Amino acid sequence: MPNYWNIPGVPHKGWHVVDVIDIRADGQPVDETDYESCTMCGNERIRYVHILEHPDFEGQMRTGIICAEKMTNDYVTHHQLERELRNRANRRINWAKKDWRISRNGNRTLIIDGNRITIIRDFHSGKYKLYIKNIIGSKLFSNLSDAKQAAFDGIEYLKRKGKW
Ligand SMILES: [Zn+2]
Repeated sequence: MPNYWNIPGVPHKGWHVVDVIDIRADGQPVDETDYESCTMCGNERIRYVHILEHPDFEGQMRTGIICAEKMTNDYVTHHQLERELRNRANRRINWAKKDWRISRNGNRTLIIDGNRITIIRDFHSGKYKLYIKNIIGSKLFSNLSDAKQAAFDGIEYLKRKGKW
């Protein structure tokens, strides 16, 4: 992989961050993670991928935090964004440990912050459907653990939208 720091015409400064992603966001074990390399320096083995854009560069760079900070000249935001993702990954791990109750109808149910989440088994397909608060999910899940992960994502989404 080339080291773009040494390639003429690739800007070193003036980048902005469009997103940071955690490639272990699903909580997969370390040895099953496909870490990425930083596209700028080719070296850093990265879990948190900082996606950067520049008006004079076509496409995006997917870098580690070390290069990202130099390229944006911002030594605060990148750490904040990584911290948010780290907290989210921890919440996801805790979520997986939650004890769901079985309702009278045989459905898995949970109350979080006073809001009820229910996973209902669809009679016809045998698949699972999600209810969060009063919202009925349109997606069907073939197993319970997928439905539970989707519930986590749904709650996170509602929190971000201020609708939790
Ligand atoms: Zn790098």
